Amino acid sequence: MGIPRGLGRSYGDASFYSGGYTWDVRGHKALLAWDEDRGCLVAEAGMSLYEVIQRFLPQGWFPIVVPGTQFVTLGGAFASNIHGKNHHREGSFADHVEWIDLFLPSGEERRVTPADPLFWATAGGMGLTGIITRICMRLARIPSGYIHNQVKKAPDWERVLLTLKEEEGKFPYAVAWLDHFHRTNRGIVHLGRWAEISSDLPAAYRKKPFRIYRGAQFGVPFTPPFRLFNSFGRAVISAWYWYRHTEEETVLPYAPYFFPLDGVQKWNRLWGYRGFLQFQFIVPSEEGFRVIWTKLQKAPARSFLTVVKRLGAQKGPLAFTGPGWTLAIDLPNTPEMRLFLKALIDVVLAWEGKIYLTKDSLLDPQQFRGAYPEWQSFWELKVQADPLIQLRSDLSIRVGLTPP
Ligand SMILES: Cc1cc2nc3c(=O)[nH]c(=O)nc-3n(C[C@H](O)[C@H](O)[C@H](O)COP(=O)(O)OP(=O)(O)OC[C@H]3O[C@@H](n4cnc5c(N)ncnc54)[C@H](O)[C@@H]3O)c2cc1C
Repeated sequence: MGIPRGLGRSYGDASFYSGGYTWDVRGHKALLAWDEDRGCLVAEAGMSLYEVIQRFLPQGWFPIVVPGTQFVTLGGAFASNIHGKNHHREGSFADHVEWIDLFLPSGEERRVTPADPLFWATAGGMGLTGIITRICMRLARIPSGYIHNQVKKAPDWERVLLTLKEEEGKFPYAVAWLDHFHRTNRGIVHLGRWAEISSDLPAAYRKKPFRIYRGAQFGVPFTPPFRLFNSFGRAVISAWYWYRHTEEETVLPYAPYFFPLDGVQKWNRLWGYRGFLQFQFIVPSEEGFRVIWTKLQKAPARSFLTVVKRLGAQKGPLAFTGPGWTLAIDLPNTPEMRLFLKALIDVVLAWEGKIYLTKDSLLDPQQFRGAYPEWQSFWELKVQADPLIQLRSDLSIRVGLTPP
């Protein structure tokens, strides 16, 4: 019994199984085929988005959906059915996958397409329906490796939401940040599109319009015994983030735009030994978002990382996304914070919201069933694929989806 694990970028216990095996799939990362006419690649599921970008960006191709880090495997991206800054236009990762090969506990390997309900149970199914071995996904043609980004600053959080709502339809990428430390929770909206070489790129970038970035040169060498992201540090980062942005249009390379946290290796160590909790919820209504955000203002600690987005619908019995408003927030891992967030989950559920499984470490069985009312359809498909329930994780046990 066990669970597959990719690059381990899920924040909670989704890719661990303490009672048995955790299968590391990172070694299986061969590129198997590339159809340039259709922009379709076939790769082993252990290949990372970083490797896809290194290989295809110089030819003018980019993954259609990317998360906030490129260090995720294709299998992990599919199993969480990740969303990016362009969910309002492009949907989730699985919407751009033509088929997957799924290795079932019976030893059978099955090719699964979007016409099969097992495809949508596996998308967002957190590795519980089989091990994805190969994946066929489409890439997007891009005019350069740079993003034209427009920054809009708003004096309070209500106007941040308003700006996002008014502007997002005009841009392929739209995301906002809220200043959790500020009295009015002012914020910044980033509106992006791929930059055109002739009209957008400054001369310095034009020489190499598809330059690839090799990743962070710096890292945090060890976990300090205390939290460097303490309350003071987090407040300073928030103020710095607000003041370093001015309302202007800029052109920046794809890496700092999509993957800012990849700029420092092992940045999570800055949270010290006790670490942090990432909490991401979605609620259908703006009123629900208002209630939850107002409660978060009274959280035991504040955050400098608050990512707000509007997400569209998603297919699959364990689909996370909307339609609705989502917030992802990093908070210190303390007993008080866990208690606070546990109670906040009930508020999210009261507003018909959900908690993102790949980032969760707090949901209990009752809350899970409240958040994912279609869990029984998922279970039926899982039992067909895995009748002996051999695929199980610490997450699936904690939320009562599988026995321990
Ligand atoms: C800095 C940062 C930013 C992020 N930003 C976003 C974001 O913007 N949007 C978003 O949606 N997510 C985001 N994430 C979450 C991340 O995209 C997902 O957790 C993703 O699943 C991680 O992929 P992984 O390869 O590390 O998988 P792991 O963390 O190793 O595993 C995640 C899940 O996938 C399953 N799995 C892994 N490989 C396979 C396989 N071959 N077959 C079947 N199941 C498999 C595991 O069992 C587990 O349930 C972010 C994470 C970080 C650290």
